[in-house]
Amino acid sequence: MSNKPDLLHGVPEIPAGSVPHANGCDQSCFLGERPDPLSYKEAIQTVKNWFRANSLWVIAYGTGCGSIELRPLGTARFDMERFGIAMRPTPRQSNVLIISGYLSIKSLKRVIRVYEQMPSPKWVVGLGSCTINGGMYWDSYATMKVLDLYLPVDVYIAGCMPRPEALIGGFKELMRMIKNGETKGYIDYIERLDWYRENQKQIIKDWDLPDYSW
Ligand code: SF4
Repeated sequence: MSNKPDLLHGVPEIPAGSVPHANGCDQSCFLGERPDPLSYKEAIQTVKNWFRANSLWVIAYGTGCGSIELRPLGTARFDMERFGIAMRPTPRQSNVLIISGYLSIKSLKRVIRVYEQMPSPKWVVGLGSCTINGGMYWDSYATMKVLDLYLPVDVYIAGCMPRPEALIGGFKELMRMIKNGETKGYIDYIERLDWYRENQKQIIKDWDLPDYSW
């Protein structure tokens, strides 16, 4: 049977199941049925992820010059609160830590302390080239070069320095990952704490941090 529209008799009927939809559904999708309905547990997790992704509380802590690009996000022009993103003054209320550019070895110690005080689930964003490969401080004796040796980074935003639009793009990517359950950094930190501790202690010579208490 031809599926070409017939001006006299209209579009011919297509037998159910003969033309799969782009996402793998047949015509039953139009009736609201899914081929693989979510289990109760999966549905609850999906809702939790959706809420978490739309409620990002960022610890207001600037480590490098990239932090100056965070400030415009709070203004009316960029208005980050429309995405559910807000700044918080304490790690105990925050779930996003932004490393905003170069990170000195002295600051790394404080940043680790801040990260470990944040409640899980929590996410780390590396802002600027300095967090990826050292950037223009690549040969400095005083800064770390690859952030994810010391903290579990979920999203990097490249640039020197990234504009506020790029930051919003990075936040949107983080939100997408949270919604899809793709952010496992905080779990990786717990599972491989010995590896992270070894790396941290290699560059922090005056180590006096308390044990991470779960
Ligand atoms: S990436 Fe550029 S703007 Fe960002 S901290 Fe490094 S030097 Fe500064």
